[in-house]
Amino acid sequence: MLKDAPINLLDYDRQGLEALFLEMGEQRFRASQAMKWIYSEQQLDFAAFSNFSKTLRAQLADDYIAQVPDMISEKVSKDGTVKWLLKVDDVNAVETVYIPEKNRGTLCVSSQVGCTLNCTFCATGAQGFNRHLTTAEIIAQVWVAAKQLGHTAQDRKITNIVMMGMGEPLANYKNVLPALNIMRDDFGFGFANKRVTVSTAGLVPYINQLNQDADVSLAISLHAPYDELRNQLVPLNKKYNIATLLDSCKNFVQNKRKARITIEYTLIDGMNDLPEHAHALGKLLKQLPTKINLIPFNPFPGTAFKQSKPQNIERFKEICMKHGLITTVRKTRGDDIDAACGQLAGDFMDRTRRSATIKKIPLGVVA
Ligand code: SAH
Repeated sequence: MLKDAPINLLDYDRQGLEALFLEMGEQRFRASQAMKWIYSEQQLDFAAFSNFSKTLRAQLADDYIAQVPDMISEKVSKDGTVKWLLKVDDVNAVETVYIPEKNRGTLCVSSQVGCTLNCTFCATGAQGFNRHLTTAEIIAQVWVAAKQLGHTAQDRKITNIVMMGMGEPLANYKNVLPALNIMRDDFGFGFANKRVTVSTAGLVPYINQLNQDADVSLAISLHAPYDELRNQLVPLNKKYNIATLLDSCKNFVQNKRKARITIEYTLIDGMNDLPEHAHALGKLLKQLPTKINLIPFNPFPGTAFKQSKPQNIERFKEICMKHGLITTVRKTRGDDIDAACGQLAGDFMDRTRRSATIKKIPLGVVA
C-alpha cells in the first residue's frame, strides 16, 4: 500500500502540533519543544532534537518532515532590499522581500501564488491565480529570510512582518491564521502582535473573523474615496463597498488600545490623486483611527497606469494632513530588483490565462 505523504510540522501552529503529539501518545509539551528547535534553533533535522527520545525521533522521521521550500534566487538591491524567490512546487515560485530601514527591518510575506482579486494596478493580479500557499510555505518565508539574514531572538534583523506580498491573505484564511500564530508565538518567532500586519483589499467577513481570532495589526488597501472609482481599481469593492468595509474596520479597532488601521492608497496619475480625492478621503476617514500610507504607483510591463507626479503626491499628502490625518509616503524600495509594492510576480504558469495579454515578467528560473 502507498504510504501517505509525510506531514510537514511547519504546517501546524502550537495548538495543531499539540494535537499531533497527543495523537502519537506523547505529551503536549513536545509541541513547544519542537517549535523551539524549528524556529529558534532553525533545525529541521529530527536527529538533532536532543531532548526527544531516540524512539520519538525515529517515529517522527518515519511519518513527518520539517521542510522549507528551496531558494531559487536571492537578489540584493543597491538600497539593501533583499528579494528571495522560493520554489514551492514544480511549477510555482513565490517572492518574499526584506526592507531594511534605520530602526527596523520589515519582511513582506506572500500568501498565494498569484491572486484572484484582479486589482487593475497590481502585477500579481495581472498574472492570474494558481493556488493558495500552505501554512508551511507561508511561515517558511520567515524561516528562510531569518536564516539568510542571521536573524535570531537576540539579534532581531526582522522587526516587523507585513502580509503584503503576493496574494490576498484573507482569501487564504485557513492557512494564513496558523502562520500568524507561529509568527507571534514565543516558541515560534516571538513577534509582538502589533508588529504583524495583515493587509487586505477588503474581504469583510474575514476581517470580522480575524478580529476574533488574532490580535494583529490591520492594513486596508483603499485606493479610492468613492465606490464608483474603487469599483474600477479594486473590483472586490462591488461585493463589499467602502461603507461596509469601514464599518468592519471600526469593529476591528473598537476594543484595541491605541490601535490604528493603516490605509494604503496607491497614487496613480490622474486617476485617484486629485485634490478632490484627497479631500473626500480626509472626510471619509474622520470616523476611524487610521494612518495613511500613500504608495506611489509602481509600473510593471503591460500596465497603462502611470505614477503620480511628485508635486501631486506632495499635494495629496498635504491635504490629508490638513484633514488631521497621519500621512506618510512610502518610499519606493528595491525597484531595481522588481521588489517594489505591486511588482511581485513570482514565477508560475497562469492557469486562468489572464496574463495572455501581459508580457511575462522574467524573474529567476524554476528548475
Ligand atoms: N492583497 C493584499 C496585499 C497586497 S499588496 C491587499 O490588497 O492589501 C500590498 C499593497 O500594494 C496593496 O495596498 C496593493 O494595493 C499595493 N499595490 C499593488 N500593486 C501596486 C503597484 N503597482 N504600485 C503600488 N502599490 C501597489
